[in-house]
Amino acid sequence: MNKFGSETIAVRGGIDTDTQHGAVVPPIYLSSNYTFKGYDEPREYDYARRGNPTRSQLAKALADLEGGAYGVMTCTGLAAITTVIQLLSPEDTLVIPHDCYGGSYRMFDHLERRGLFKLVVVDQNDQAALDAAIALKPKMVWIETPSNPLLRLVDVKAIAAQAKAVGAYVVVDNTFLTPILQQPLSLGADIVLHSCTKYINGHSDVVAGAIITKDHQLGVDLDWWANCIGVTGSAFDSYMAMRGLRTLPVRLKQHQESAATIAAFLNEHPAVAKVYYPGLEDHPQHELAKSQQLGFGAMLSFDLAGDIEQSKLFVEEIGLFCLAESLGGVESLVAHPATMTHAGMEESARITAGISNSLIRLSVGLESVDDLIQDLSQSLDTVLASL
Ligand code: PLP
Repeated sequence: MNKFGSETIAVRGGIDTDTQHGAVVPPIYLSSNYTFKGYDEPREYDYARRGNPTRSQLAKALADLEGGAYGVMTCTGLAAITTVIQLLSPEDTLVIPHDCYGGSYRMFDHLERRGLFKLVVVDQNDQAALDAAIALKPKMVWIETPSNPLLRLVDVKAIAAQAKAVGAYVVVDNTFLTPILQQPLSLGADIVLHSCTKYINGHSDVVAGAIITKDHQLGVDLDWWANCIGVTGSAFDSYMAMRGLRTLPVRLKQHQESAATIAAFLNEHPAVAKVYYPGLEDHPQHELAKSQQLGFGAMLSFDLAGDIEQSKLFVEEIGLFCLAESLGGVESLVAHPATMTHAGMEESARITAGISNSLIRLSVGLESVDDLIQDLSQSLDTVLASL
């Protein structure tokens, strides 16, 4: 366990460890293979799919930040998920939240159809539904909080306690908050995973994933699986993500501050019907956010007054926010879930899930918040004039 604060762990990963030249920043090891010292004498690393020094440094830093015992880097966030579900056999049950990331859902759904495990989808805030799912004695309970795009929370400590009582692995996808703002292992989870593509790398130029375990042996097993199925992360991506990680705590401070300012601004604007941001006092789980999280994050969404025409007008008018999927980069992004991230959902299911045609999602970046508000303001005024 690393005794330093998060800022120190994030900045110092691998710094001043180069014994050959004294490089302050650790060099990147691109070699795909490593010599044996001699007959039957392998070194720590032999082949880069199995292990790589650059990747190990990042895995260690992330494990330290999450308070875990072991870290595994994968080539994408979905590869991290693919690795974790290798723990399941056909007779095992996996319980997932009804509003988990669409790509995760698509994978779980298609693998279940091929008989790899049994899948139970529940609203984890519906206690009766959760109780019924836990009564099936699942092998794994999946948690993702806050959810995308409506920023709904679930109580990790309570669900983990319930799941642990029947011997289930508790897995938390911590992509939205990162270890800087939420540490699920301390709330009872066994495994945390990330799409490092988002805040951890933070510059929208890497696709990568990570798994962190509370138990060392479980981490070793998952590392074995990542190598076995061939989904370990590349040295270059690990180097880039390590570079991004060094500024994660300070980036998040500013991301959050700007997101809170923007949420308050949107909350007052007449062209906005409803804002979804856990930092707002009227968010139904504001108190849970305060107790379970170390901050409110920088993702938010809102319903525009009006319908699909107003959404179209809004995204056409906006200038500084890029109309793009993904999140967590230094640049601000706007997404229209109905036609982008959640376009694959049946319209009726989408509306039932609360993802209306007028829902807009923002990933608040690091530009001047005054400029961002100016941009939102002119776009919202155009929407207002159309109503
Ligand atoms: N988990 C969450 C919450 C995500 O938002 C995403 C991607 O958007 C993933 C996992 C998958 O990560 P990747 O795109 O790096 O494979």
